[in-house]
Amino acid sequence: MMNKKGRVFSGARPTGRQHLGNYLGAVKNYVALQDEFECVYCIVDLHALTTLETTENLRSNTYEMALDWLAAGLRPEETILFIQSHAPQVCELHTILSMITPLGKLTDLPTFKEKVRQNPNNVNYGLVGYPVLMAADILLYRASVVPVGVDQSPHLEFARELVRTFNYHFKTQALVEPATRFTEVPKVLGIDGQQKMGKSLNNHIELAATPEETQKRVLSMVTDPQRQRRTDAGNPDVCNVFSLHKIFSSADEVAMINAECRKAGIGCVDCKKRLAHDLNESLVPFRARRAEIDQNPDRVWEILHDGGRRARAIADETMRDVRAAIGLP
Ligand code: SF4
Repeated sequence: MMNKKGRVFSGARPTGRQHLGNYLGAVKNYVALQDEFECVYCIVDLHALTTLETTENLRSNTYEMALDWLAAGLRPEETILFIQSHAPQVCELHTILSMITPLGKLTDLPTFKEKVRQNPNNVNYGLVGYPVLMAADILLYRASVVPVGVDQSPHLEFARELVRTFNYHFKTQALVEPATRFTEVPKVLGIDGQQKMGKSLNNHIELAATPEETQKRVLSMVTDPQRQRRTDAGNPDVCNVFSLHKIFSSADEVAMINAECRKAGIGCVDCKKRLAHDLNESLVPFRARRAEIDQNPDRVWEILHDGGRRARAIADETMRDVRAAIGLP
């Protein structure tokens, strides 16, 4: 195996079947990073508890998400793919780190303020400590690199500060300061053409949808709002259908639509049918792999449990050094 440049850690909440936004914004990058780094990817079920009203879908959402990640190209023989709660050391490190975290720092984070706005009736302790748990994950697995979008960089900076504080205070090198790797996360809009694609808004297109479901969703996409009639010229620059064409269609087709739309040479229905076709074609290998892996659900759980074992082995080493540095008896 080629020498890897270091260890990458990343986690995502168990949201079930992944959609185009998840794929283009994270999973595609997860797959690519495997070529360069030793990767540790975690399904953060504990984080999910901060805003979950019910836990009944937690298990199925975890399974569906793992299935999509594997079908997208994660290689479990080299990459550690596991469930956060299967390495409970993260809770211990979270508690220890919380002792050196000023409360004001947490309540000042823009993401906390946003969560309060979204869930004004459930501002629980876990929500305040969310970034501490996130830092505990990153530091437990001694990640050297963490891929983040610009909006998440304050969380990583927060984790880096915790490392400096901890190591300085306890005169140790037990925790490793991770480097930031900015990833360009394309903002994928939902079928409403307005808001970021997301399940809660029901404006998403699932990777694992059938070709017919995909076509139905694509045909309902909002286009250039100024284009009222077939005979009106359109503006692809403000059209979300065109944004997806740029990702999933050939350069020739993109150029044709770009030119024809501006002179009403192509109608929106035709344009969307072409997108649905190209999208379905691009997803053929993914859907075939997914169906194959799904024939053996035990294998998916085995992969997650094996990942848990490997994650716990790293976590044990870190916690041994952390406890020794603090002087816990
Ligand atoms: Fe958008 Fe295509 Fe309609 Fe132009 S023709 S407005 S790019 S859907």
